[in-house]
Amino acid sequence: MTKTADAIIIGAGVIGAATAFELNKLGYKTLSIDRNAEAGHGSTSGSCAIIRVHYSTLEGTAFAYEGYFYWRDWADYLGVKDERGLANYRETGCLVMKTSSNGFMAKHTDNCRELGISFEDWSSEKIMERLPLYDLRGYHPAKRPNESGFGESTGGRVEGGIFFPTAGYVTDPALSSHNLQRAAEAQGGQFLFNTSVTEILKKNGRTSGVKLSDGSEVHAPVVINVAGPASSLINQMAGVTEDMTITSRALKQEVVHVPSPSNFDFENDGMIISDSDISCYVRPEHGNNILIGSEDPPCDEHVWIADDSDYDRNFTDQWNVQAMRYAQRVPSLQIPSRTRGVVDCYDVTEDWIPIYDKSSLPGFYMACGSSGNQYKNAPIAGKMMAKLVEYCESGNDHDASPLIFHLPYIDRDTNVGFYSRKREINTESSFSVLG
Ligand SMILES: Cc1cc2nc3c(=O)[nH]c(=O)nc-3n(C[C@H](O)[C@H](O)[C@H](O)COP(=O)(O)OP(=O)(O)OC[C@H]3O[C@@H](n4cnc5c(N)ncnc54)[C@H](O)[C@@H]3O)c2cc1C
Repeated sequence: MTKTADAIIIGAGVIGAATAFELNKLGYKTLSIDRNAEAGHGSTSGSCAIIRVHYSTLEGTAFAYEGYFYWRDWADYLGVKDERGLANYRETGCLVMKTSSNGFMAKHTDNCRELGISFEDWSSEKIMERLPLYDLRGYHPAKRPNESGFGESTGGRVEGGIFFPTAGYVTDPALSSHNLQRAAEAQGGQFLFNTSVTEILKKNGRTSGVKLSDGSEVHAPVVINVAGPASSLINQMAGVTEDMTITSRALKQEVVHVPSPSNFDFENDGMIISDSDISCYVRPEHGNNILIGSEDPPCDEHVWIADDSDYDRNFTDQWNVQAMRYAQRVPSLQIPSRTRGVVDCYDVTEDWIPIYDKSSLPGFYMACGSSGNQYKNAPIAGKMMAKLVEYCESGNDHDASPLIFHLPYIDRDTNVGFYSRKREINTESSFSVLG
């Protein structure tokens, strides 16, 4: 028998599962379909799950600040128990080094002042007090270890940083998706795993559902593409790419885990640190390890992936490059010969800002292009997508009159047209994972 739903959500990652939860709260009976065996086992499981509030644009900052409160109040937000337990948000704060490449954080702190987000201006002495293992000599611009001069200071030093107390990370991002699945189910949502969507069905000029890998069909008037790094393939399948000025594609990332130097408890005394002088970001990782991610400097090759279900998931030399860049800042860092960490993909747009939008096909929506920086926003993105569906399905033309969406915690309106698939490239963006 053909199944039906009010809305089909392709993808049960953190954003897909949040969208399911929020749509059910609005009265839509959803069916989430995922090719994996469990919620959050796509790129969400590879996420560093850093929750931070500083972004280059005012809209991006407001969205992230709103997003922060859902993680802080996770149990209340979900309103259900999960037999696996709830994901844990650890509030460590986030230090961003002031460098010429981030304009010494002037734009970010202006955004924070406008939105009432607290921050502290730390001197280099204060940084050394909190991070005595650090060496603040300057190394910008980033090099690769095989280039001459790698590891030699280019002069100057990091003179200070901005510390944001309302920041941290979630220790198990896949579990947070499972939590959202349970919350969605409690509202009537259903989940179908181990099944791929192979076709977007159309009837009378709009979407009418999806065809699945077992040949069966599910019919629904609304289909939402939340397929993460596979989202561009789903958009192609739906035939909706023609009017998109912003697109997305999968970008391979390697995330490094190394032990903290034994004389420092990075797990408990460390924090999230974004350091554009060495093009790395770090956060504490379980077992007194340090997680090192890349801020993608121009000297590193960008490895674009055509099909995120079929690429080399092994570490490459990039693992070593990131570890060695961080060792410039922490000379006592020991780099083990055994590589540990994560290999996964971002779904990157031209301006590293996501697409939360309808499409040229009535009934077909997309929440994609999360560009390595939207885990934190999943709950509010889900809420916004649900409202967008409701707005468009009630006959409003979101392209001509974009939805104005209220961010409830921070009591501020946002124009959802900011995330349009038809926008001009946003030149205010950092054009990096920092958003
Ligand atoms: C290495 C890394 C580090 C990151 N760090 C951070 C961070 O610190 N902070 C932050 O805010 N963000 C971070 N991100 C980004 C964040 O993780 C993502 O934005 C977020 O997890 C995306 O969630 P999603 O639900 O959109 O996609 P996904 O979790 O990728 O889910 C998409 C799902 O769609 C399914 N799917 C795909 N195609 C099909 C199909 N044809 N049929 C059925 N199912 C399909 C997949 O199986 C998958 O489960 C990071 C990402 C990566 C890769």
